[in-house]
Amino acid sequence: MAKEDYYDVLGVPRGASDEEIKKAYRRLARKYHPDVNKDPGAEERFKVINEAYSVLGDPERRAQYDQFGHAAFEDMGQGGFGGFDFGGFGGFEDLGDLFGEFFGFGTRQAQRPQRGADLSYELTVEFEQAAFGMETEITIPRTEICDHCHGNQAEPGTPIVTCPECNGSGQVRFVQQTPFGQFATTRTCTRCQGEGKTFDTPCTVCYGRGTQRKMSTVKVKIPAGINDGQRLRLAGKGEAGRRGGPPGDLFVVVRVKRHKLFRREGQDVVLEVPISFVQAALGDEIDVPTLDGDVKLRIPEGTQSGKVLRLRGKGIPYLRGSGRGDQLVQIKVVTPTKLTSKQKELLREFAKAGGDSPPDENKGFFERVKDALR
Ligand SMILES: [Zn+2]
Ligand SMILES: [Zn+2]
Repeated sequence: MAKEDYYDVLGVPRGASDEEIKKAYRRLARKYHPDVNKDPGAEERFKVINEAYSVLGDPERRAQYDQFGHAAFEDMGQGGFGGFDFGGFGGFEDLGDLFGEFFGFGTRQAQRPQRGADLSYELTVEFEQAAFGMETEITIPRTEICDHCHGNQAEPGTPIVTCPECNGSGQVRFVQQTPFGQFATTRTCTRCQGEGKTFDTPCTVCYGRGTQRKMSTVKVKIPAGINDGQRLRLAGKGEAGRRGGPPGDLFVVVRVKRHKLFRREGQDVVLEVPISFVQAALGDEIDVPTLDGDVKLRIPEGTQSGKVLRLRGKGIPYLRGSGRGDQLVQIKVVTPTKLTSKQKELLREFAKAGGDSPPDENKGFFERVKDALR
């Protein structure tokens, strides 16, 4: 069977220009590529088209073909063109160009919008600020869309063109012929870094990155009742996205400073208050500090050390909802250490009057200890 004329294969006249040949080849390759065209015989046709282009697309080979016809390549007619050898024409640059164009639709992955990264910031607040909430501003280093080029990467007013290397797909595909068959691989286009577009004049502010590293001020609202270690999410306040993707989030981890008087227990505020044994025995009214300022607290007569008195509604506000916890006042009766001789004398009098005899139930307690040791 006579071998089909290469010009007929590509459907171009003998005097066709290089550009016409290239165009014809692209059109046919696109039509018959086995990944696209599943018709029986399409793959065979694709090979023939490639074979024809491998000769006509190369000026030196084309000249040989024009002079000698198929005979010019007889030596490689058997095995050499069993598949097709891309090394025979153009080299890789050309290939990337060709395949990038007609596979563009299948490999858009690299160009997909990318969400920006999340950021984390640790914010230390005072005990009272955590209890009642506050608004503050924090300054963080953050990647933002360049405000000069608005993320376009090119200097405003200069043209942005579709990457000629990958024809806007951002990826370049190679087909390799091996003894086991045809393998196709794709990689990110090196010319446009997968962006799909190129420009001659990069933005003069961001040097073509489309983003800028900046110190950014962000308003943070700390809700009343927040506890140490809790995290606030500020949606969209993280790093800028890429290719029009949304920004990431900013997470603010709240650290609450220790208070010199108060301690938090759930929604309650705990405060230890020392009183004298006289106040404990006789009762008293004292001023107690709370988150809302000093309040009067009645110490009942005969208060024991360790007794907890409750100040309702003086605790921490509930983070969600309404109301507050209580303040728990832990009474600590302080035994005097430095007594004047007058005070000592009075205490001896006090003891003589029977004021120091332990209550009967305490005897029972000591008996129980002895029993346990026996
Ligand atoms: Zn810029
Ligand atoms: Zn490209």
